[in-house]
Amino acid sequence: MLIDRFGRKIDYLRVSITDRCNFRCLYCYSIKKWKKLKHEDILRFEEILKVVKVGSELGIRRVRITGGEPLLRKNVEYFIKELKKISGIEDIGLTTNGYFLLEKAEALREAGLLRINISLDTLKKEKFERLTGVDGWERVWKGIQKALKLGFSPVKINAVIVRGFNDDEVVDLAKLTLDYPVEVRFIEFMPIGENSFWNEENVFLASEIKKRLEEVFPLEPAEKVGGGPARVFKWGRGIGKIGIISPISESFCEKCNRLRLTADGRLRPCLFSDFEINLKAIIRGEAKGSIEDAFFQAVEKKPERLELHPTERFMRAIGG
Ligand code: SAM
Ligand code: SF4
Repeated sequence: MLIDRFGRKIDYLRVSITDRCNFRCLYCYSIKKWKKLKHEDILRFEEILKVVKVGSELGIRRVRITGGEPLLRKNVEYFIKELKKISGIEDIGLTTNGYFLLEKAEALREAGLLRINISLDTLKKEKFERLTGVDGWERVWKGIQKALKLGFSPVKINAVIVRGFNDDEVVDLAKLTLDYPVEVRFIEFMPIGENSFWNEENVFLASEIKKRLEEVFPLEPAEKVGGGPARVFKWGRGIGKIGIISPISESFCEKCNRLRLTADGRLRPCLFSDFEINLKAIIRGEAKGSIEDAFFQAVEKKPERLELHPTERFMRAIGG
């Protein structure tokens, strides 16, 4: 079992399968500093599967596939099928910007994927394009509808709230839960990577989100499925749920149960700490050590709590 110095049980691995993305979200991206990984530096699926297998023997039970944009990577459905064969892995999820969902959703569902998180920060097409650099709101929306139709569950919609940009849409985004069985999750804007869009004033706090929502309907604590940092609520007569993720204002470090594997094979104990273990070099025989030891070392190095400062790597390179 993987237990860290502070008694936290680590059973969750977030796996970034690519650093590539077709979007350029303002909160995630900085054109100046980002350097694309070379193809050969990205872990092959077989290599990731090897890591997950060892992880599962040590107690990893849940895997989330992310990126960059994971649906840009060819054969992600094959990867999911293979992940499902690993005994011990009880839960597989995927986080996507939703752009390719319309064409990929069926194959993902057939591969056995059930849990899907889709990022949607605005209901306004023009704002969506300003945020992501892509005229794709309608495609993403249709992708969400398709995911619901195909029975993905839960379908979670992630919205990063940035003051002055989309805080005026908190209530409208929440209203999606009145009509659809989705969990709309509001996320505080984090300083990941050197991001010129981020500053402390831009962070729209969880307390402000709650206040906006409670001006319309009360929020009542709701049952939470699975782990993770969100606080979950029912809102009004909603058939869906509201999640609030507040890394800035209310640390959830004491419950942190995760490690991350970056697209270039680094095992990362904490999103906000730039300490990483070069697992790729170990897997490829270019460095001494074993995958098992790398897991133990990463768990040993998990900090007690995050120190909020801009990380060297961007979210898309770490795997959000
Ligand atoms: N491309 C996929 C997507 O957008 O869903 C998966 C990767 S993305 C890095 C994962 C999540 O991180 C998204 O929900 C995105 O909104 C969130 N994210 C990116 N940058 C962020 C930031 N600076 N603060 C908070 N959340 C951020
Ligand atoms: Fe791409 Fe996701 Fe980052 Fe947006 S948040 S740029 S979709 S990786």
